[in-house]
Amino acid sequence: MNDKQTTVQELKERVKQFRAERGWTDTDQKDVAISICLEAAELLEHFQWVKTEEVKDHSRWRQAVAEEMADVLFLLMELAEQFDIDLAKAFQAKVTKQANKYPLSEFNPSKSKQELRQAYYRIKSKTRTDHPFAEEKEHDS
Ligand SMILES: [Mg+2]
Repeated sequence: MNDKQTTVQELKERVKQFRAERGWTDTDQKDVAISICLEAAELLEHFQWVKTEEVKDHSRWRQAVAEEMADVLFLLMELAEQFDIDLAKAFQAKVTKQANKYPLSEFNPSKSKQELRQAYYRIKSKTRTDHPFAEEKEHDS
């Protein structure tokens, strides 16, 4: 099993089979959602108190991080199966939504960090209260 040869549906079926073999068929969806957050927190623990330079050297933590990512994925597949959610469709819809929210005309590598940050916070300010960075002026340097 690897990313190139495995479909999302196969992952869902593998999780379903694993759970059925153990009689874990009546798990509360709320508990699965909570467990996703808890496993995501376990993933974060590997980055807590670690300097960015240390994170870049992933040979030390790669296996442990992969296990936590797999924990999150396992539970996500379980929840998607329980809610009958087509994750590939949901993913594509999200990518389309994000592309509309962050248009290439404003978010592309030709923009400065300042321009990108301002554009980002202009968008955020439409959905949240105004953020001070949205109107920040370019710093002289
Ligand atoms: Mg874990």
